[in-house]
Amino acid sequence: MRLSAYFQGFGRQIRERRNDLLDLFYPRFCIGCGATLIRDESDLCLSCLVGLPMITESYRPENFIETRFYGRAKIESAASFLYYEKETMSQKILHEIKYHGNKELGRRLGRMFGSRLKGVMFKDVDALIPVPLHANKLMMRGYNQSEWIAKGLAESLERPVWTDVIERVVENSTQTKKNAYERWENVKGIFQLTHQREVEGTHLLIVDDVLTTGSTLEACVLPFKELENIRISVATLAAVN
Ligand SMILES: [Zn+2]
Repeated sequence: MRLSAYFQGFGRQIRERRNDLLDLFYPRFCIGCGATLIRDESDLCLSCLVGLPMITESYRPENFIETRFYGRAKIESAASFLYYEKETMSQKILHEIKYHGNKELGRRLGRMFGSRLKGVMFKDVDALIPVPLHANKLMMRGYNQSEWIAKGLAESLERPVWTDVIERVVENSTQTKKNAYERWENVKGIFQLTHQREVEGTHLLIVDDVLTTGSTLEACVLPFKELENIRISVATLAAVN
């Protein structure tokens, strides 16, 4: 065995022992089921990771994510990674990413999603655009969860993330407890193009955390109508069935 390989192996063993010790004194718990995490597990235990409620239909044309936009926005194709349901693992995951500062989990799941999409969908996408937060909200939260999901997706799809194309100009109130019409009234006109980058002639993938009624994404796609020769697709980490 070469000396460098010996030291590499030795270093790995020390790291593993150190992590085992840390786990002993500062146990980490699975977001999904609350079980104690071991060794290389982070955020989710192996059985929760295997049991993620994945939307296998996503990778087919005319899936339910695409059909949700029919008659509302011209979407080239759309896909979501996980089914979103209240009181389930997917809600815990989304809360963790959005409200508990765990942006790295968003990135990691984005990467997993991207590895499933690669070569199957969004093959000719030029760049990914996360749905922007209003500047005030961004300052309060410190990060845009959709941007971190987009980062992970972009790593797998090997495309850039552009955050200078569109901005949120209105800080709208919460969408919950509103009907479809009220939701749309609440969000239309909240996004606008920044014109900082030439995007005509491109295929853009808009990325959001959760798709519910689709009003926010529909509003996000709206400003692109003023441009010619542009195609828009949509990817979200989770979607309500
Ligand atoms: Zn678990």
